[in-house]
Amino acid sequence: MKVYYPSKTTGSAKKLEGSIYVITFFVSETPWPLNEKMELFKFVRDAESWLEGKAKEYGKTVRFVNGVHGLFEPFEIDVVPDYNSGTPQTDIAQKYLKAAGCPSDTTYPAWIKKNSGCDQSLVFIIANKKGRGYANPICWESNGPEGTILYHSEENKLIASSIIHEFFHLFGAVDLYETDVQSADNSARMEIMYPKEVMHNHYFPLAELEISPLTAWLVGLSEKEESWFETFLPL
Ligand SMILES: [Zn+2]
Repeated sequence: MKVYYPSKTTGSAKKLEGSIYVITFFVSETPWPLNEKMELFKFVRDAESWLEGKAKEYGKTVRFVNGVHGLFEPFEIDVVPDYNSGTPQTDIAQKYLKAAGCPSDTTYPAWIKKNSGCDQSLVFIIANKKGRGYANPICWESNGPEGTILYHSEENKLIASSIIHEFFHLFGAVDLYETDVQSADNSARMEIMYPKEVMHNHYFPLAELEISPLTAWLVGLSEKEESWFETFLPL
């Protein structure tokens, strides 16, 4: 089968295996109580434990190492990115890493290795405001940082399964619900095949959440390629 979704082989989060450094940024334009941030950080750990457990089912060892900014002291950055419609920013990971003192894209993998001992990494921004979360997987030949941003507000609270969904994107998974790249037919098909698949519908308790063989293959947990995968993959 042809290679259609190169995110699984590019960027700082290539596949779900080995030691992975997660750099979490808590950002807010207003004072943000520590206890609420601590609660959200627990969701990050819950998401990571779920991913570690899922990898184990496929015989892979995954270990997450955490770095955090903005937990005890506010993280100083000019503006907290907003995204409700239109085109999301594609350089959020770079911007935040730069503000945290990290060097350029080219020296980034070595910097990560030196600081965390990890070969892979991802940037995770938790913004204390309303907005629509998104991921920036790298789909061209680069080892640059990949990142995702999720928003937390009173009306729209962050949940662990959303973190899992976005992290999966960075390792190469694709949306399996109806979107610009996925037809209504495909979504309906997934609803029958894997209704609780995390890239299709992640609004389930972690214990019930599952991944399809397609997602497992895209993120490198499984090498088993099946003929039906092609229908769901962007050209
Ligand atoms: Zn998605």
